[in-house]
Amino acid sequence: MGYAKVLSVGLAGVAGHVVEVEADLAPGLPAVLISGLPDTALHEARDRVRAAIVNSGQKWPNRRITLNLLPATLPKYGSAFDLALAVAVLAGSGELPPVALDATVILGELGLDGAVRPVRGTLPMVAAAARAGYARVVVPAGNAAEAAVIPGVRVHAVDTLHRLVAHVRDGTPLLAPPEPAPVAVPPGPDLLDVAGQPLGRRAIEIAAAGGHHLALLGPPGAGKTMLAERLPSILPELDDEAALEVTALHSIAGLLPPGGGLLRRPPFQAPHHTATVPALVGGGSGLARPGAVSLAHRGVLFLDEAPEYGKGALEALRQPLESGVVRVARTRGATEYPARTQLVLAANPCPCAKPSGDADCECTPLARRRYLGRLSGPLLDRVDVQVRLPPVRAAELLRTDAPHESSAAVAARVVEARRAAADRWTPTGHRVNADVPGPHLRRPPWHLPARVTRELRRRLDTGSLSARGYDRVLRVSWTIADLDGRDRPDEHDIAEAIQLRTGEGT
Ligand SMILES: [Zn+2]
Repeated sequence: MGYAKVLSVGLAGVAGHVVEVEADLAPGLPAVLISGLPDTALHEARDRVRAAIVNSGQKWPNRRITLNLLPATLPKYGSAFDLALAVAVLAGSGELPPVALDATVILGELGLDGAVRPVRGTLPMVAAAARAGYARVVVPAGNAAEAAVIPGVRVHAVDTLHRLVAHVRDGTPLLAPPEPAPVAVPPGPDLLDVAGQPLGRRAIEIAAAGGHHLALLGPPGAGKTMLAERLPSILPELDDEAALEVTALHSIAGLLPPGGGLLRRPPFQAPHHTATVPALVGGGSGLARPGAVSLAHRGVLFLDEAPEYGKGALEALRQPLESGVVRVARTRGATEYPARTQLVLAANPCPCAKPSGDADCECTPLARRRYLGRLSGPLLDRVDVQVRLPPVRAAELLRTDAPHESSAAVAARVVEARRAAADRWTPTGHRVNADVPGPHLRRPPWHLPARVTRELRRRLDTGSLSARGYDRVLRVSWTIADLDGRDRPDEHDIAEAIQLRTGEGT
């Protein structure tokens, strides 16, 4: 009887796979069966597709309809298959010529009225179609701009099922994607705005150059948030591969800014301390939404008032920070999203959030230790740079005469330092100093002469520095040398690196 096959794409993490959508129409009791590991939303597709077809003025075939999505092994989530299912049904029943949309990948959710609605993840889905060799895609008009980012693909946009049917029947043109306009990205916060705080400025420069996680400890008003927000402005712009990954993750989250284009600036995410675990690491029904840790991929994840986050939240962040990948549990298996992010923790020295030594602060030393202790173990262990920022006096903040550097000037040094590190570590598979395991730095050819590490070893012997702390100081000292254009750290670099670990948890 009637059979038709059209193409769509399913997502597994950020990777898309071309999916064949088959419709088989057989005589028998009218019914619709969907097979091929569909989730609930896909079952609901049956009702949407039928209503959309009828409300677009087309005939719903009163036959036994089997819809199948291949490969069956690929879990399929969400509503992006609706439009392909509708086309398969119409082609199978002879309403549409069977070859019209051959080799065309079709994406889109259907409203009951036949409107084609935007779907999350269009960009990585179109990228998958292009990689699989398909040069033509039909996407919802609302997603056309992001689809057009992928080179080598002709993008056709549709706003209704009716428009697609008319196009196939009599060649009515589909909608063209919007011209890729150079999107004016508003400049982010700049270091020019930060007066004073030389220690804080130095700390974020070193964190940026070495890819080190950073903890900023200090009283309210010390400028912790100001500094953290400016870290992306001194990180290198995202290269093509990174920009595609980051833009794909934001596409899956449905958070792309209108106007299209790849996201080139390292992202900055600052989830509130009341954020749920799914909001931090990803989750939700249907196509899993990436959490803050993935939306901060290749950028910065800022946890302000870090000790206020729930124990579960901090615990949930540990695995992604360790592996650079987050696994979001699904009913069938798990979805993996990249999560290689630079962590910035900010914390007040004590729970009352008054400057330490302030007359109003009544916190006991124990209460203070406990407060920061919430961060130790899981997270603080991974933080190479931990600084205590002094309160900034109003007079210092308001000074306009003192020259301070712009983000661009600092970023130029960061790029050079990163290049030096990349050249050194490429043979070992590492890119930034923060990635290099401690033992590696303690062995030839990278171990430092005894004269340079004397103070470090003294602290290790007296117990004022742990073995992990020792390695973190070594890593940071390499970054300091890279920033200064020298090929090895000396005792002064070690001394500064030790200074950058005066925070709790050494
Ligand atoms: Zn206090």
